[in-house]
Amino acid sequence: MLFIPWRYIADWKCNSCGICCRAYSVVLKFPEWLSIVKNYGVEATVSGLDKLFLKRKSDGSCIFLYNLSGMYLCGLQHMKPKACKLWPFKILGEPQYGYASDAVYSYGENQLFVYADSTCNGLRYGKPTLEFSEYTLKEFVEIALGARNNQFKTTADLSFARTKFHSKLLSLF
Ligand code: SF4
Ligand code: SF4
Repeated sequence: MLFIPWRYIADWKCNSCGICCRAYSVVLKFPEWLSIVKNYGVEATVSGLDKLFLKRKSDGSCIFLYNLSGMYLCGLQHMKPKACKLWPFKILGEPQYGYASDAVYSYGENQLFVYADSTCNGLRYGKPTLEFSEYTLKEFVEIALGARNNQFKTTADLSFARTKFHSKLLSLF
């Protein structure tokens, strides 16, 4: 995987390809683990040496991932772990992956360094659009800083999923 500074990214939109939910184990913070266990039982999680994870199915995908008409959607939207909300972006206090001047992002008095994991299918490279830098990225940063929980720009557009699902339904008649 390669980490790309945000200034090389024109835009990002999740297309529900599900790659991230199949390729990675999700690390849970303790309160997240607690809510999931209360709602779904301890079987929905696994523990490692010093970390707690979401359980994966035998094919490696997250236990909460489901397929709707060819789109991969999250069944844990209402208590989605922070690690999932922030994917594919890394929001750091230091320029850990280099290119500091292209990764630096100011939010209030915070100087942060933002990179994207190139594995994500939803990245479009180029000069950042205003929508990306002023709205989408800002929302990712606010989630990282704990200033907000709700996702608006940082998750898949489910109206698109519904349209696709309805088109599929119509094609059956
Ligand atoms: S975040 Fe990226 S990799 Fe994950 S489902 Fe969306 S487009 Fe695919
Ligand atoms: S909790 Fe949701 S977003 Fe996170 S890996 Fe599982 S299905 Fe994907």
